[in-house]
Amino acid sequence: MKWTANHITYEYDEEKCTCGLALCTEACGQGVLDYLEGPDKMEIVNEVQCIFCLQCEEVCPTKAITIQGALTLQDIPGLKS
Ligand code: SF4
Ligand code: SF4
Repeated sequence: MKWTANHITYEYDEEKCTCGLALCTEACGQGVLDYLEGPDKMEIVNEVQCIFCLQCEEVCPTKAITIQGALTLQDIPGLKS
């Protein structure tokens, strides 16, 4: 599953989605992702709410989620910690 919005590409590889814990869904504070039992495990239920915070990508232990093109806080000069 792949979708693009505002030049940002979100990709989900269900073959790699094996943790069975829905860590990504729990990490998403925007209610964008839903995790289902079954072959199509991940569903995007609210994509307009995605703020590309990258938390779902970060917590996924199997790299099943990749987000490309998103700016992060580290990209903003003066905000590097
Ligand atoms: S954290 Fe990764 S492996 Fe786990 S349910 Fe989400 S996409 Fe699948
Ligand atoms: S990038 Fe952030 S807001 Fe978007 S689906 Fe992932 S955790 Fe949710």
